[in-house]
Amino acid sequence: MISRNFQCSATSGDAVLTAEISPCSFMYPGYGLQLTVKIEGSGGNTIVQKKEIAIENATEDDCKALLDTVQIVPCKSCSKPAFDPATCRTNRDGECNECFMDALNAEYEKARQESDEKLKRDDAKNKKQGYTHRVMAWVHPPQGEDYQLVMYMQNATEQEIVKVLKRKKSTVTNDYQIIVL
Ligand SMILES: [Zn+2]
Repeated sequence: MISRNFQCSATSGDAVLTAEISPCSFMYPGYGLQLTVKIEGSGGNTIVQKKEIAIENATEDDCKALLDTVQIVPCKSCSKPAFDPATCRTNRDGECNECFMDALNAEYEKARQESDEKLKRDDAKNKKQGYTHRVMAWVHPPQGEDYQLVMYMQNATEQEIVKVLKRKKSTVTNDYQIIVL
């Protein structure tokens, strides 16, 4: 049987691709041969699979042939090597890992700013209505995910907040922050 540590590499233009056998090929019977492929000097990876090749029968040549099916395209944003999404499993859509992560971070930052601004608008609105505090509390249910609770209160007291959190069946009643409006 092929070694778990087998690695091979290939070049495509200026890009050097390295492949190793994905651990799941050895862990799950019938999974078939799957490679995890990286572009040297770039984060992120992709996988290619050939279910028909049982890991017990896989040869080094099978791995090389499977690696050769992975194609490289110039990143659509910066033209560095990127995986061709038509040839392997990737959510990068023709972008290199760096550009993909940059876009993701920018999206996250935008969402954060939008929610900050919404909170500011809500604060102003509630202050006008006579509320004095915004309480940001985390509810820790006995089962399931924790979630955040935003409450506007008039002269918020610890007792009141604890009462709400108990009513929500939170197992913790001191995980909150009080913001003066
Ligand atoms: Zn790029």
